[in-house]
Amino acid sequence: MQIFKFGGASVKDAAGVRNVASILEQVGYSDTLIVISAMGKTTNALEDVIYAYFKDKHILNDSIKVIKDFHYNIIKELFSNENHPVYWKVDGLFAELESFLERNKSPKHSFVYDQVVSFGELLSTTIISQYLNDTGIKNTWIDVRNLIKTDSNYRDGSVNWEETQENITNSVNKSLLNITQGFLGSDANFFTTTLGREGSDYTAAIFAYCLNASSVTIWKDVPGVLNADPRYFEKTQLLHKIPYKEAIELAFYGASVIHPKTLQPLQQKEIPLYVKSFINPTATGSAVCNVAELEPKVPCFILKKGQVMISLSSLDFSFIMEDHISYIFKQLHDAKMKVSVIQNSAISFSVCVDNKFDTLTHLLEKLEAKFRVSVAENVDLYTIRHATEEAIGEVENNKNVLLKQVLKNTVQIIVSNNSEK
Ligand code: ADP
Ligand code: ASP
Ligand code: MG
Repeated sequence: MQIFKFGGASVKDAAGVRNVASILEQVGYSDTLIVISAMGKTTNALEDVIYAYFKDKHILNDSIKVIKDFHYNIIKELFSNENHPVYWKVDGLFAELESFLERNKSPKHSFVYDQVVSFGELLSTTIISQYLNDTGIKNTWIDVRNLIKTDSNYRDGSVNWEETQENITNSVNKSLLNITQGFLGSDANFFTTTLGREGSDYTAAIFAYCLNASSVTIWKDVPGVLNADPRYFEKTQLLHKIPYKEAIELAFYGASVIHPKTLQPLQQKEIPLYVKSFINPTATGSAVCNVAELEPKVPCFILKKGQVMISLSSLDFSFIMEDHISYIFKQLHDAKMKVSVIQNSAISFSVCVDNKFDTLTHLLEKLEAKFRVSVAENVDLYTIRHATEEAIGEVENNKNVLLKQVLKNTVQIIVSNNSEK
């Protein structure tokens, strides 16, 4: 059994959906389960709906209309028959979204967030499943929320593996072509949860693990995993074979082509992960698998933009010791801040974090109560794996370096964009 995952970029318009059908025809789809993300930038558009709902009700209807127009335009291109059942299915999903927003009484942002953003994947899978059925690729639409169970940590649910395994084992009929949503799950009360932004790769890995799949293929707009993000680096090279450990490191440091949580379940069962181009589906792409060495072994560059560097020093010139450090990490944990660099000396301590949940102001208040704090916002973090002097030179060239950390296999460099305060 193999798992395919089609991301937002691969189904961003009607041509993308047609291309999915063409890929399935070219590479074959027997013994396959397909995980699909929201179309194009739909999740961002749904985030605008949530913003409008909480902060600016006047623009709520317009923000929903943007998403309706986008999806109805795609359907019109894909289905010439105006009475096709896809229309009432999609109408039904929008009615459900609007009715949730009218009736909801919960003030909890993260809860509302998950109930709303989930419509992206519900819409995309409904449309694509119907389209594939029409083109002769017979498939069954599955509501993933009946299978993947998580805790109630909305926006970043942790999978309950036991229940998920049991549900998948009992309900997935392997002899059918199943199509389901990435990114979503549900909690004990059957409220929708999500697995973290870009989490559909992880959904594919969850299914692969629970079904003992032979492989996972994620179809991307790049030829595979490159040694750097082609949006920011010139002259990138394709990585043909990547050991799990290396891929985990690359994803952890921010190589966004693979969601970081994806690799652990695959590594546990040694299931290979293929990263392939949806533009050129028969090309080899990259394989993350059980190999000893990265092939080719070249420096790999990862850029995380818009990070925050926080530097702390003691107020009274005392050492920053374990008790201080445990206080700092408790505050970071409470603020849901993911730390990507740590550097300390006797009386100072610096971290580089992602202010993903907009908790920086609150965090700084807590830290300023105990330390002298300086903050550089909007910094860029470069991580170089298997760095050479030349590779480091390329990154540092003409930049204002705030921090540099050299470890055996990993060099990290924080660069200012001149907005320190
Ligand atoms: P999806 O459509 O599945 O959501 P993503 O946009 O998440 O796809 O991932 C593909 C993108 O990842 C590419 O367009 C590329 O800009 C970016 N990317 C970041 N790092 C790398 C890398 N090392 N190799 C290839 N692509 C990368
Ligand atoms: N649609 C979700 C997102 O954009 C999940 C995903 O695409 O992987 O974050
Ligand atoms: Mg994505």
